[in-house]
Formats: sequence, structure tokens, C-alpha cells
Amino acid sequence: MRKFKTESKKLLDLMINSIYTNREIFLRELISNASDAVDKLYFRSLTDDSVQINRADLAITIGFDEAARTVTVSDNGIGMSKDDLDKNLGTIAHSDSYEFKAAAKDVPGEQEGLDDQKAVDIIGQFGVGFYSAFMVGKKVRVVSRAYGSDEAWAWESDGIEGYTISEAERAEHGTDVVIYLKDDADEESYGEFATEYGLTDLVKRYSNYVRYPIQMEVTKS
Ligand code: ADP
Ligand code: MG
Repeated sequence: MRKFKTESKKLLDLMINSIYTNREIFLRELISNASDAVDKLYFRSLTDDSVQINRADLAITIGFDEAARTVTVSDNGIGMSKDDLDKNLGTIAHSDSYEFKAAAKDVPGEQEGLDDQKAVDIIGQFGVGFYSAFMVGKKVRVVSRAYGSDEAWAWESDGIEGYTISEAERAEHGTDVVIYLKDDADEESYGEFATEYGLTDLVKRYSNYVRYPIQMEVTKS
């Protein structure tokens, strides 16, 4: 088990305990990461002749497994090596991290729960990034294969103390972010995205901002 850095723990704590109502923004964050990863690979192909990419093949896929209660965001972008997974997901590698740290200092860590208004302010003010997956997930598993590598690695965490990295399989370069939905994420509470229709709706809403095609893959029980 590798431990999260202090500032990551604060942010995760906020994500997990927050009563923030717009939890569905996790999907926007993960789609934007997928889109960045595809962009990175595409731009590399423009400057490096050894990188042969067919632009039409670049895509993002959203999976929903009703029985397993998982939402998966996949891309066939640049992917992450074992080191990348450790560096990028083990610490907040966020461009706004400096300001975030300053703001998070005021968050009472010891007391029961977090100041709700403060949580809303912080989440609204900063792009919350990858860790927002823990607003809706009790566990997150990231399987990734870096472009040009034949190894795949899995990063897994419950968002509390730390994470593990272990060997995995992936047919091609890219990343799958698998979110195991929290038990209370049902339609009646906050989890409209925990249904096929709700999720499809949400994907439609966010896909306007993405220049790659987004496919939906639904597995029914
Ligand atoms: P940001 O996108 O602002 O950099 P995030 O918290 O959203 O911050 O993501 C942290 C980092 O993790 C990214 O900068 C990127 O390096 C890496 N990352 C996240 N998702 C993916 C992905 N799907 N493919 C490749 N790298 C990713
Ligand atoms: Mg991001």
C-alpha cells in the first residue's frame, strides 16, 4: 500500500465527506481527462513520425454495468506508465494545487464532517479533477497502458489512506477509469447517473464540449 500525500488526503477527505450536491461533475472531470489524454497522443503523432495514429480511431467510451454497479470512462489516448500512475494519481498534480492547498488549510480536518459551505466553495472554485470520482465511488480502479509500452498497470484505491499499483492487462494503449458506485448512489438520493437513462443524459450534456466521439456501452443484468 502506498500512502497518499497530505494535500491529496485533504482533497480526498473533502470529496468523500462532502454533501456537495453536484456530484455528477465527476463525469465531466473524467471525460475531460480522457480528452486531454487523446489530445496528447494526437499532438505527439503530429511531431513524431514514429507515432502512427489514425485520428478517426481516437475515441472515448463510457461503460455502465447495471449488475456490478460500475461506471467506466475509457480512452485510447497516451496512457500512463507505472510511474505516471504513482506520480499523477498519488499526489494532486493539479495546476491549481497551490491555491487549493491554501484554501484547504482552512478546512477543519479533525471535526466530524466538513464545513459544508466551505466544501461547496472549494469544489466550485477549483477544477476538482480525478479525485472527484470518489464523490460517487467507494472504490476506483484505473487500468492504463502507456503508448509504446507493452505493459499495463492497475492503480486502485478506496480514497482513504492510500492506493495499490499492480500488474494488469490491456489490449492497447489508453486508460480505463472504473468507478464502483457507492451503495447510496441510487436515483432517489443523488445518483441519477446510476441508471442507464440518467447516465446517457449526462454524457450527452458533457459531450458537446469534447471534440472526440463518445460511445456508450451498457451491460444489463
Ligand atoms: P488535471 O487534469 O488538471 O491535470 P486531474 O486530477 O484531473 O488534474 O488529473 C491528474 C493527472 O492524471 C493528469 O494531469 C494526467 O497526467 C493524469 N491522468 C488522469 N486521467 C488520465 C487519463 N485518462 N489518461 C492519461 N492520464 C491521465
Ligand atoms: Mg483533469
